[in-house]
Amino acid sequence: MTLDLERLARVFPGPSVVSRHDDCRECVVAEKWVSGRDAAEGRPNGPARTVYDLLPSWLQAAFEWGPVQWPFHWCDLFKATEVDCGVFSYLCSYLLVRRGVLHFRAQVVLPCTRQESGHWRGMWDLPGFSDDWILTDLLVYHEAIALPEAQGAVVLFDTTDLRVLGPEQADSRYRPRAVRVESAGLDLETRTVLLNESVVPLGEWRLSPSSHGREGSGVA
Ligand SMILES: [Zn+2]
Repeated sequence: MTLDLERLARVFPGPSVVSRHDDCRECVVAEKWVSGRDAAEGRPNGPARTVYDLLPSWLQAAFEWGPVQWPFHWCDLFKATEVDCGVFSYLCSYLLVRRGVLHFRAQVVLPCTRQESGHWRGMWDLPGFSDDWILTDLLVYHEAIALPEAQGAVVLFDTTDLRVLGPEQADSRYRPRAVRVESAGLDLETRTVLLNESVVPLGEWRLSPSSHGREGSGVA
């Protein structure tokens, strides 16, 4: 089955955004709570050794991964015990912007097993939420961020599982098949990033650089 980049661009044109209700006091309070909690416990003790030390990993302690209904609002966080990859990615990016850490939003397509996709469909169907992120039995849509490394290159980082995504990963489920990277609301001069030694234009779905050589046409 071909990975349809045009369909991806139509269904997932950009990363998820946690929005504010107009005139909702709880939304304001939730935003202050997240920022305040991050200020209290989000920073590493001592100087950060790598950019990974700057990630707000307390989010994974606060929320399990699971289904949410979109659109998702800030005040929904008060009721949520589970959030999905879009909420994790958005909140991580939101806090990194507040901390002044350069990064990008990233959307990816990851492989999965039939067993996993079947299990996840059940998880999302139970509360009646859309499972359109399960693209096929063997491919899922996922959200992450891209962090700058040396010399203009970026690395994809999974803000749900807190691990690097890329062709070097031993587990194929962490090797993206397609990727879209965009600015995290920062005014950047660059219109491209270097990902796995390939130039990737910002804001466009592309087959992962790693998919070109070995898998050529992006056949799933
Ligand atoms: Zn609200």
